[in-house]
Amino acid sequence: MNLLSLITILSAGLILLIGFRILQLDRRAKENRAFFILAITLSWLGFCWYEMSHTTVMAEAIQLKKLQFVWVYTLPLLIYCLYHFAGPSIFGIRSKVRNIALAILLIVSTGLAYLEIFTNNGHGQLILLDNNQWGLIIDNTNVYGWLRSLWFFVLLATGAYIAYRAYVQEKQDHLRRMKAIFFALISIFFSFIFAQNFVLPYFGYVHLVNASLVILTSFLIFAWAFTNFKPITYGDEYTIQNILESMTNLVIVTDKDFLIKSINPATERFFDCKFEQLVNQTICTLLGRKVTDRCIEQLNLYSGRMSEEMELETPHGIAYIHVNMSAVYNEANQMQGYTFIGTDRTKFRTAEVQLLEYAQQLNRSNEVLENFAYIASHDLKEPLRMISGFATLLERQLGADLDGTQAEYFSYITEGIKRMYALIESVMDVSKLDYRESTIEKIEVSTLVNSLANRFSTIEKDVDISYGPMPMILADHKDLEILFFNLIENGIKYNTSANVRIKISCQRIGEAYEFAIRDNGIGIDPAFHEHIFKMFKRLHTRVQYEGTGMGLAISKRIVESLGGRIWVEKPKGVGTTFKFTVPVHHENVKAVPKKSPLPLTQAS
Ligand code: ADP
Repeated sequence: MNLLSLITILSAGLILLIGFRILQLDRRAKENRAFFILAITLSWLGFCWYEMSHTTVMAEAIQLKKLQFVWVYTLPLLIYCLYHFAGPSIFGIRSKVRNIALAILLIVSTGLAYLEIFTNNGHGQLILLDNNQWGLIIDNTNVYGWLRSLWFFVLLATGAYIAYRAYVQEKQDHLRRMKAIFFALISIFFSFIFAQNFVLPYFGYVHLVNASLVILTSFLIFAWAFTNFKPITYGDEYTIQNILESMTNLVIVTDKDFLIKSINPATERFFDCKFEQLVNQTICTLLGRKVTDRCIEQLNLYSGRMSEEMELETPHGIAYIHVNMSAVYNEANQMQGYTFIGTDRTKFRTAEVQLLEYAQQLNRSNEVLENFAYIASHDLKEPLRMISGFATLLERQLGADLDGTQAEYFSYITEGIKRMYALIESVMDVSKLDYRESTIEKIEVSTLVNSLANRFSTIEKDVDISYGPMPMILADHKDLEILFFNLIENGIKYNTSANVRIKISCQRIGEAYEFAIRDNGIGIDPAFHEHIFKMFKRLHTRVQYEGTGMGLAISKRIVESLGGRIWVEKPKGVGTTFKFTVPVHHENVKAVPKKSPLPLTQAS
């Protein structure tokens, strides 16, 4: 094997190396793969041909070996090329006829090349030129001379065509443009090698040194291409490509006529289809007529952009997709096509529907419960009234006949009835919060607190109620009165000090007013700070302190209906501080829901 053979084989190896790197990085670009393989095929043929022209006069055995190389490497590559050329994805050419014609042209020209290799053996001749350099003369008297010339033009034209197509199609894609130039250079370059060895010799001889220079130049071009690919292949384009490929969103790219140009793997999985089946098909094939029409309508309406949730029929059933579609423009501001990005919301949608159903169910059962509390408390009064009435009658009839124990029993009955009344009243108070007509109005809190303070000043205890500056708030007057009344009353009731002190203050914290009602009473164990806001929950017996355990539960409901929250704190020193918030802005105030008055049962 001479130096030239070595250089040619090394160069071929280099092309393969570059090609595999490209394939690795650009797995989905099938046309690039075809370009690459085409270039390899053509260059390989060129190399082999060139090599054999030399080796035939040097060593028959080497030549035979090379022929095997040609068959083993070139034929599969050609079949692969044929598949891609005949397939619909290559070059974006829609007409299959044109693709097949192109493939036939390539096959025929390559076939001729093979024929040439076989028949041309022995026609080459090495001669020693005048200037002591080796040269090559090829016998050109046979018909294949013409075919050789033809093949040269085919090679040249293919290179130019690939370059042109790729350049026009991939104008925006720097990497692909580079590839196009690279492949075109390879093709054109080998056309010239071919020409130099098989066409130019018609007109005389060629220097082997010249041929070596051509090979060297080719080596430099490969090296240049290789180094140029590196920064680009690791650059942004591939990051975006990888992102698109690993995205779980559905990504579809179409041209202006809504013909599919690209889809990502998530879309393939979602619609159970392959890109090859869909390329150049209308997007309607995937989305269905209804959705497509809707998208087009919205795109027209909102100048090339749309975002909407849509129902889609897929091979896996009905799906809910949030669709974002927008027009794509090139640098010259010409519309190129559309991108479709779909987010599968089927699971969320199902969960939302379920949630809505649960909420409705909860509302219904709440309503039933509220109705029940209202009606029950209302109706319970009736039999209680009867018991109370007849107990009083009985007590009166028995009069003086009652002994001490019986009179005591009667007092228990009366006490029980009173207590039952109080409990029913508080249950009714809670349900009234829902059914009483409430009016949200601006309330001067200081006026309200002042009037309550006056009311409490009439009780026997020494009570001092003081308050700082109070804001105007939006609330129902009656509710706010109940709220302050309960908290002040508790501060006085649960208080054993000789001088009862109630201090009311308010401060604005962010978007809410925070009210504090502090007393110097018996205090509450922090363990029960949550507990006391529940219905009927009390920390003391009735003997210690009168009460039903509903005051704070009612207060909590009122505060929550105003959009705030209530809690209790243990202040430094004695007593208790109740705190509650009310939003500053009107929008935050949820008026107590006004429900239609309930149809009460017959008993009243
Ligand atoms: P009631 O006062 O009718 O018992 P509330 O719901 O108003 O019902 O209060 C629940 C419990 O919380 C009371 O039984 C009492 O033990 C405790 N409590 C409420 N306010 C105070 C207070 N200011 N100081 C001490 N304990 C209190």
